[in-house]
Amino acid sequence: MIDLRSDTVTRPTPAMRGVMADAPVGDDVMGDDPTVLRLQSDVAARAGKEAALFFPSGTQSNLAALMAHCGRGDEYLVGQLAHTYKYEGGGAAVLGSVQPQPIEHAADGSLPLDKLRAAIKPKGDPHFARTRLLALENTFHGQVIPQSYIEEAAALARQHELALHLDGARVFNAAVASGRDLADICRPFDSVSICFSKGLGAPVGSVLVGSRDLIATATRWRKVLGGGMRQSGILAAACQYAMAHHVDRLAEDHANAERLANGLRQVAGISVVRQSTNMVFVDVPASHCRALTDYAGTRGVLMNAVYGGTTRLVTHLDVSRADIDTAVATVKDYFARA
Ligand SMILES: *Cc1c(COP(=O)(O)O)cnc(C)c1O
Repeated sequence: MIDLRSDTVTRPTPAMRGVMADAPVGDDVMGDDPTVLRLQSDVAARAGKEAALFFPSGTQSNLAALMAHCGRGDEYLVGQLAHTYKYEGGGAAVLGSVQPQPIEHAADGSLPLDKLRAAIKPKGDPHFARTRLLALENTFHGQVIPQSYIEEAAALARQHELALHLDGARVFNAAVASGRDLADICRPFDSVSICFSKGLGAPVGSVLVGSRDLIATATRWRKVLGGGMRQSGILAAACQYAMAHHVDRLAEDHANAERLANGLRQVAGISVVRQSTNMVFVDVPASHCRALTDYAGTRGVLMNAVYGGTTRLVTHLDVSRADIDTAVATVKDYFARA
């Protein structure tokens, strides 16, 4: 199967399974799983932060960070389409008593500074929630958020005494695409959540990085949220392996996405909206969505065009250059018959 639905679908490679099987483990809730401790200290060092904490999911890592920065009745500024706001079940409000203040995105995925400024509530007035945090996302829908914008947003946050969190689920894609060090991208942020279960190919796992104090608070919330794991070195070993072997190769995913976009641009019947890092966005006419998805599926190409509107195709570790050519040929064949 050539699965273009998401970069979460990657399977652990035989070598990754090998290091998982061999990982020394302890009880991580007691703080003595050596493989988890090693991953945490290596990710912290690579991100240029004091400390790190291993989580079962990015959703939980983001939520623990929001709860570490904000208390009951506080507020965070976040993109209208940001994962932490829209795709995490409303966790900040549901479990954190933290009010989100969504902001409309600009076309490049950034949150315009004037809109952010206008949404920050006056201090000390009991009418308002206390604005405490700005949360950004990079990459956002595949787009690398310009570092110059991030610096400006960070200056605004500092001026208003807001903390700054990054949902960096795909921050390694941003680093590879922009040729920057991870630490460089993470520098302006007080906390960054990094996923290992997307294009990096680990089966499970996210890591939150930040100051020692922030990570201590997040450790408490992780326990409360049910994320304290025991012999989790087995999972951390997969992430450690991914960081050593699957970061630089993200460039192949980006090249494959570009090849996919260029191939699909030659197909009459659909239009390519945009390609950024490992994502290609295409418009499939509503009348073809179901039939194209079914046809491709029977030919071993999985895509999710069933909702109509714009469909996202994602490249990753388990999609080769040859697979891209097969996928393009399959879409071409469909429209030739339709
Ligand atoms: C996948 C993802 C997350 C975390 O999702 P989990 O499935 O909980 O690991 C967070 N933010 C973004 C942008 C993501 O794509």
